[in-house]
Amino acid sequence: MPPVTPYGGELGFLSVGGVLATGGANSRSVTYGLMSDNVARLEVVTGAGETLTCSPSDRADLFFAALGGYGQSAIITQATLELIPAPKNVRVYWLFHHTMQEAIHALRSALAEGIWDQADVLGYQHSYTDAIRAPSPRDGELINTLRLTAFHRESPPDDEALLRNFRSHFSIRIEDVSFRDSLLKKRAFYDLLDREKVRMQGPHRGVAIPDDNMEAFLSALLEKFPLDRVGPYWHVHCVPISGPVGLQTPLFRLPAAESWGVVCPWLGMAQEHSPQASRDLYQLALDNGGMLLGGLTGWPMLPDDWKAYFGPAWNELQRAKHKYDPNNVLQSLTNTG
Ligand SMILES: Cc1cc2nc3c(=O)[nH]c(=O)nc-3n(C[C@H](O)[C@H](O)[C@H](O)COP(=O)(O)OP(=O)(O)OC[C@H]3O[C@@H](n4cnc5c(N)ncnc54)[C@H](O)[C@@H]3O)c2cc1C
Repeated sequence: MPPVTPYGGELGFLSVGGVLATGGANSRSVTYGLMSDNVARLEVVTGAGETLTCSPSDRADLFFAALGGYGQSAIITQATLELIPAPKNVRVYWLFHHTMQEAIHALRSALAEGIWDQADVLGYQHSYTDAIRAPSPRDGELINTLRLTAFHRESPPDDEALLRNFRSHFSIRIEDVSFRDSLLKKRAFYDLLDREKVRMQGPHRGVAIPDDNMEAFLSALLEKFPLDRVGPYWHVHCVPISGPVGLQTPLFRLPAAESWGVVCPWLGMAQEHSPQASRDLYQLALDNGGMLLGGLTGWPMLPDDWKAYFGPAWNELQRAKHKYDPNNVLQSLTNTG
């Protein structure tokens, strides 16, 4: 399968099949669902060696076992995706906040407005401020950035109208970029890591946190992993994954109907990246009602952790595995990271 993202180098490429097999959540998911929610048809090779096509109305059990199913029943070899036209240009508003709580609160308001094309919160450290042209944070603090994106439609967005309800930031930067560059938005920051020769240790890790526990989780996270422990390249990315509309991929699991994805290159770029520190961080998510964020599986996942992750969908997954991979040819669910 072809690579789907522009990441490269140390970060590796993500394939279309790999993303569909794990869901594909992102900051557009509150509006458009997961990447796996936008599939019309698949061609797969099952564990029994058969090449089959499937869709929601044709071999639906195979279709829904392949999406979010971590390659347990079949390998995805072709996918037909539902696409929408991309805008040519976007305007990005970077609203800088002193605290993560303020930024998350402002993001909730942005989501309630329902007018933004994309919205997320990034907690950056001093080391990134040149790359993203952000003001310097106070010593030992993160700079908490609410990033709002508005597509250019017939004419450029009206800043005053869009921003009239936002008051909690201490500084703002507005930039117009092509849609393509906005997809490469992390480029400046990955370039910085390249220049500084920072190597990502192990795969990406992320957790899904129920909306109600988001602030408690973030406070606990920042307390347990203070900046002097995690080092200068650690950062936090908070993405609203689902809202009241919900997601469609049965095997993609979230702790609650309204949940956030929280991703740091968990310890991956931190000074300390021991398996114990990684487990501690995972446990912190579990203690706050969270779970693995589908796709971001670089956790020490044991078979029971997988069973807990799939919950009521576990039996469905096992039924499909027995039917389409009767001889257990395909990789079992262990730690995929
Ligand atoms: C820098 C970075 C950023 C990321 N950002 C996001 C993000 O924003 N949102 C998100 O959801 N995820 C994100 N991820 C996670 C990523 O989407 C998943 O790890 C995805 O599975 C990677 O695809 P891959 O081709 O590398 O799969 P692999 O790591 O090779 O495999 C992952 C799982 O998918 C299965 N699999 C792989 N290919 C297929 C196939 N063709 N058919 C069936 N099963 C298959 C494997 O068996 C395995 O269980 C990110 C990862 C990185 C490294």
